[in-house]
Amino acid sequence: MIPFNRPFLPDRAIGYIAEAYRSGKVSGDGLFTKRCEAFLSARYGSRRMLLTTSCTTALELASLLCRIQPGDEVILPSFTFVSTANAFALRGAKLVFVDSLPDHPNMDPARVAEVVSPKTRAIVPVHYAGVAVDMNPILQMAREVGALVVEDAAQAIEARYQGMPLGTLGDFGAFSFHETKNIHCGEGGMLAIRDAEHVGRAEILWEKGTNRSAFFRGETAKYGWVDVGSSFLPSDILAALLWSQLEAVQAITARRFRLWERYFDALEPLRRAGCLELPTVPPFASHNSHCFYLVLPDERARSQLIEHLKRRDILAVFHYQSLHASAYFADKHDGRLMPHADRFSDCLLRLPLFHDFRDEEQDRVIGAIHGFFGIESRSA
Ligand SMILES: *Cc1c(COP(=O)(O)O)cnc(C)c1O
Repeated sequence: MIPFNRPFLPDRAIGYIAEAYRSGKVSGDGLFTKRCEAFLSARYGSRRMLLTTSCTTALELASLLCRIQPGDEVILPSFTFVSTANAFALRGAKLVFVDSLPDHPNMDPARVAEVVSPKTRAIVPVHYAGVAVDMNPILQMAREVGALVVEDAAQAIEARYQGMPLGTLGDFGAFSFHETKNIHCGEGGMLAIRDAEHVGRAEILWEKGTNRSAFFRGETAKYGWVDVGSSFLPSDILAALLWSQLEAVQAITARRFRLWERYFDALEPLRRAGCLELPTVPPFASHNSHCFYLVLPDERARSQLIEHLKRRDILAVFHYQSLHASAYFADKHDGRLMPHADRFSDCLLRLPLFHDFRDEEQDRVIGAIHGFFGIESRSA
C-alpha cells in the first residue's frame, strides 16, 4: 500500500527526546522549545516565534492578539481548512469569504479589494501548498483600512514571497507542525510575531494571561494575572521531536522538491494533452513542495481516478470543501458566488508526497495515472 503520507521520524529524534526527558523539565518553554524558537527566529528575519500546540491554536492566539470583537469583519479564502475560519468565528467575527484565483487555490486579491472596508479588522491569506499569496496588494489594502494581516502559513515553512519567508510578512504568521506537514512533531504549531508592540502581549496570552515569561527573565518581581490568555505551549518532549526535523530542514525540503519536480515532469504530457491541470507557481513565489496536486476536468473524473488508484493500492485524497457553502456557514453567507473555490473543491486531487517516498513508489503512482488516461508510462 502506498499511503498518502508517512510521517518522517528520524532515529536521532529518540536521542533528543531522551535528553528532554532526562533534563527533568518536560513542560513547555524548556530547552528544546527555546532552541527551536531561536533557530527559526534567526532563519526567518528575527521575528519572535512562539511554539504552540498546533497551527489551530496559533491562529486562535493571533485572533486574540488582533482584539477581534463581535461583528468585526475578517476576510479569508473560502478554500481553506476550517481552523483558519474557526479562530475568528470563536471571537464572534463576521467572516467574509473570498474566491480563489482561476488558476490557483490561493485567494484572489482582486476579490479582497471588493469587500475590504473600514469594518475589516483582519485579512487572512492562506498560502496553499506553500505557494505565496500575492502579498503586496494584501498588505497595501490592510494598511489603507487599518486592518491586521494574519498569514495562515500552516503549509508554508521555508517558502518565500519575493525572497521573504512566508509567515513573516503580515503582523502574525501561523505555522503547523502536524505530521502531514513538511516539518512536524506529531501535533504542533508556531506563531511568528512581526512587530515589537505585539510581542509582550503575545507572551502573556501564551502563558495563560500571566506575565510569567517576563518574570523568568527577571523583569518583574512576581507574576500574576494581567490579561486574558490560555495554555498554548507544547511539552518540551514535542519540541525535542521538532528539533530533530528542524536540524534537517534544508535536506527535507530538497528531497520534497525533487519528488515534486519528478511528478511535474512525468505528468506534464497529460497536461499538454488537456487531460488535467498541474500546480502553477507565480513568479513572485518560491514554494516548498508541500503538496503535489492535480486538477481534474470534473468531480466524476476525480472519483474515477481515486478509485483507479485505490485498486492499485495507492491512496490519493482531496480536500477543502468551500467553507462559504459548508453546513455551518451556508445560511450566513451573503450569496457571492465562488466558482473557483468550488471547482478546486470538486476537482483537486492530492498525490502521495512525503520525505521517505521512494522513487520506485512514486514511479508506480505515475504509471497508474498514465494508465488511467490510457498512455504507456515511461517509468512503469
Ligand atoms: C494543517 C492546516 C491547519 C491546521 O494545522 P494544525 O497544526 O493541525 O492545527 C490550518 N490551516 C491550514 C491551511 C492547514 O493546512
